[in-house]
Amino acid sequence: MISPNPPTVSRRHFLATASIAAAGMGLAPRRLLAEDVSPVITIRQAAATAKIEVTRLRGNVSVLEGSGGNIAVLTGRDGKLLVDAGITATRQGISEALGSLGADPIRHLINSHWHFDHTDGNEWLHSEGAEITAHENTLKHLSVNTRVEGWQFTFPASPAGALPTKLLQDELKLRLNGTTLHLVKYPSAHTDSDISVHFADADILHVADTFWNGVYPFIDYSTGGSIDGSIRAAELNVERATDRTIIISGHGPVGNKAQLIAFRDMLIVIREKVAALKKQGRSLEEVLAAKPTADFDEKWGAWVINGRTFTSLVYAGV
Ligand SMILES: [Zn+2]
Repeated sequence: MISPNPPTVSRRHFLATASIAAAGMGLAPRRLLAEDVSPVITIRQAAATAKIEVTRLRGNVSVLEGSGGNIAVLTGRDGKLLVDAGITATRQGISEALGSLGADPIRHLINSHWHFDHTDGNEWLHSEGAEITAHENTLKHLSVNTRVEGWQFTFPASPAGALPTKLLQDELKLRLNGTTLHLVKYPSAHTDSDISVHFADADILHVADTFWNGVYPFIDYSTGGSIDGSIRAAELNVERATDRTIIISGHGPVGNKAQLIAFRDMLIVIREKVAALKKQGRSLEEVLAAKPTADFDEKWGAWVINGRTFTSLVYAGV
């Protein structure tokens, strides 16, 4: 089924999927910045039983949801191209989902950034024949042991087969399966390795983790992310999208320009509130007690990152 307009994935479906994931992760969001088990462990465990949802978007581009970040798939004679690799524990589910999109072999993988929920499957996808393309900072972080304080986890260096071999700095144009793909690096935003991928003919834009549709985002200060960089990326996304553009978010349902605007506005308002309180000399505990996200929590705080955690992430960067 090819839909001419940006699809609306029901929020109920998304929340159902998300709450299973969050329950499996043991992610009481308070824990995100505290001790206990790292969400990385619990996300990987939950992925073993994750169900993959396949949605055909427009042209020969589809999206796979359910294992880590959203995965875009372009099919055609040059072989399947994936944007992001999901979690390795979901290999079978992802393989079946890819099989349902046709018999083309897997030939190309683009990593939207270095985070494990987008690169965990690199090694097996490479073993199936995918050449891996990414920003040079993705290679840099995957090549060495890398600590993410917000997840209380140190990722060991990846095996050689999981490393990107085709690198970009600012941008890269690819011509595959009868369409043009435009890869563009963001100034540091969610991390220092984020890139967008635009499928030009279908006008579908994968925006990596610079957009979490309907949920508060994570910001990885350990590898170059910041709230101000996240806002700049959100502005860029709004500028690039038209009312026709289908937006593949890093997390949350597939979206549209109006949802990009809502996300940007949420980031800006909360950033200003938290910054004003911090400027008055208030401690993190005092800012949390003032509940600067209260007006947004019902809509945005229902998933992995709640208002308190997001406030902490913003406070760290203003
Ligand atoms: Zn990420």
